[in-house]
Amino acid sequence: MAKIAFIGLGNMGSGMAANLVKAGHEVLAFDLSADAVAHAVNSGASAAASAGDAVAAAEAVVTMLPAGKHVRAVYEGEIFGAAAPGTLFMDCSTIDVASARHVGGLAVEKGFRFVDAPVSGGVAAAQGGTLTFMVGGSEADFAAAEVFLDAMGKAVLRAGDLGAGQAAKICNNMLLAITMIGTCEAFALADKLGLDAQKFFDISSRASGQSWSMTSYCPVPGPIPTTPANNGYKPGFATAMMLKDLKLAQDAAQTAGAATPLGAQAEALYAMFDNLGGGASDFSGIYKLLDGSWGD
Ligand code: NAD
Repeated sequence: MAKIAFIGLGNMGSGMAANLVKAGHEVLAFDLSADAVAHAVNSGASAAASAGDAVAAAEAVVTMLPAGKHVRAVYEGEIFGAAAPGTLFMDCSTIDVASARHVGGLAVEKGFRFVDAPVSGGVAAAQGGTLTFMVGGSEADFAAAEVFLDAMGKAVLRAGDLGAGQAAKICNNMLLAITMIGTCEAFALADKLGLDAQKFFDISSRASGQSWSMTSYCPVPGPIPTTPANNGYKPGFATAMMLKDLKLAQDAAQTAGAATPLGAQAEALYAMFDNLGGGASDFSGIYKLLDGSWGD
């Protein structure tokens, strides 16, 4: 079993670190929030006084931080100077492709091993150890990371070289936003046409309009009892997080010269929902914006 430094123990990181402990690893925890560290210690981790201290004693490092600027700052400011040569870094944060390639490239240049390994699945999947990891990095670094990521997820998939994990993540989430908005529009129209939501679900979930947004994460109350729609649109996956991922997708599309008109429209709609106070609601709550009941 390994000594693993875990940096960033928020909504996602706390559950992931607990699963590494359950798998028998020794976890050295650091977060800027003392409460987050205390929570990790309750789950069996040891507290580290700084990111550098956590990393110095570890053979592998997991980071689960909010955005690219945090990842750049923590790796360049603290981790690179403290880690032993050959240490394996796994950045599981969702960040821009350019930052992932920059930090990963620097790590490899300095003689470390690095994979970008963003996740699909929310807080429940982080706690339950059922995340899907989309991994970018060399085949050798992927093989080294797989054993640790397996302890936190149900699927660990190599997407390609450095940055490819982040590319897969933002393309996936752009597609998710588009299918969610389309599904919400269809339910809102069905309602205006006098069609019962459950009836429309029963038909469309077995017809060509079917998607994960409908059959696993249905945005109207009723058809799938466990979805946020049945719980006041409490997240789940918050609108503000989806908006962040859509901005990353649009930035990447601009840099790469890709046409993503529906991705742009999805970003604009989620920005509108966020501006109207929907940021902390689940992203499926955009149904209420589209059926005109938001704010009622
Ligand atoms: P969070 O804000 O709950 O956690 C981030 C943690 O990082 C916080 O505890 C914060 O104190 C800590 N942190 C920030 N800067 C730090 C630093 N310099 N040193 C040490 N700790 C620092 O966020 P989250 O929901 O856990 O999300 C983390 C990442 O996972 C994000 O990139 C997000 O996009 C991605 N993600 C989230 C979800 C979700 O459903 N929440 C799903 C998939 C992916």
